[in-house]
Amino acid sequence: MEFLSKEYATIREAARRAASLCMAVRRDMLDKLDSMEKTGREPVTVADYGSQALVLQIISESFPGDGAVAEEHAADFDTLATNVQRQHVIRYVSGSLGYQVTLEDVRRCLDWGHRKKTERIWTVDPIDGTKGFLRGDQFAIAIALLIEGLPVLAALACPLFPVDPARPDGEKGVLVLAKRKHGATIEALTGGPARPLRVSSLSDVAQARLLESVESGHTDHTFSARLLSVIGGGGQPVRIDSQAKYVALADGRAEVYLRQSPGAGYAEKIWDHAAGAMIVDEAGGRVTDLDGHLLDFSRGERLSANRGILATNSAVHDALLDAVQKSS
Ligand code: AMP
Ligand code: MG
Repeated sequence: MEFLSKEYATIREAARRAASLCMAVRRDMLDKLDSMEKTGREPVTVADYGSQALVLQIISESFPGDGAVAEEHAADFDTLATNVQRQHVIRYVSGSLGYQVTLEDVRRCLDWGHRKKTERIWTVDPIDGTKGFLRGDQFAIAIALLIEGLPVLAALACPLFPVDPARPDGEKGVLVLAKRKHGATIEALTGGPARPLRVSSLSDVAQARLLESVESGHTDHTFSARLLSVIGGGGQPVRIDSQAKYVALADGRAEVYLRQSPGAGYAEKIWDHAAGAMIVDEAGGRVTDLDGHLLDFSRGERLSANRGILATNSAVHDALLDAVQKSS
């Protein structure tokens, strides 16, 4: 049997269907889409809960013995969601699965695989970039399979990302998939042929295009401005929400993704990076932390052995690491 072929089909199906669910919520509710607030002031919506329940239902049907590390939890859902919001989640998940689920089914799916000690772990960010989703900007559904802490499969669905870099105002919605040592591909969410992803070959660091978060609470904008001046770059950073930044990098639309949390000692969550980092790796890029260490996904929910993120097209990586040292 081909390497992880059933897993590949499953991750693809889960990402595609979760993207449709999120877009349905957006269409039906965006002007009246209320968010709930988790501790730490991060927002969560009906679409986050619906997307996670759906993804974990699809994965658990095929791989009941696996574990999961996912952003949302049934306990928060119980305390944050109103009755009306719970009914919305049940309705969207039932609609997508094609059969009626109950509140208890949703709660069970949300927590499926949580804290299970196994060598195969699925990381799920049901809506990465919820703040972007609420603003009407970029967001992503991010799923990865880790085997013994190493990402081996990744899917990122970005429903608002331009399919063709030459036509930024053209068709939106991409599905990006990667399998370790087999490369990464991008295709329209509406279907059609997939093409391989390849990072840009630019090696002149002064011309490098840099990506960062929109949210100044998620990355230190002054740090990236300092870094750009150290490398002699004249351009402005391009700000995009979610792991769509990794897609832009993997598709040669930029050369650098830099992330330094403004929160002192903040360790990044694995579901915010496992899929994106593997896609960039498979597209020929390089991903480390700000000290040049490989990302260690084997330590539970957080990248507790790493500081920040530096993802590049590979050619400019060492120059950027140097500049990080000088800007820190
Ligand atoms: P982005 O869309 O790049 O701004 O990243 C969104 C992600 O930022 C969310 O999924 C959060 O998990 C993550 N996040 C939340 N708080 C912080 C923080 N203080 N520093 C870095 N990332 C954060
Ligand atoms: Mg996220």
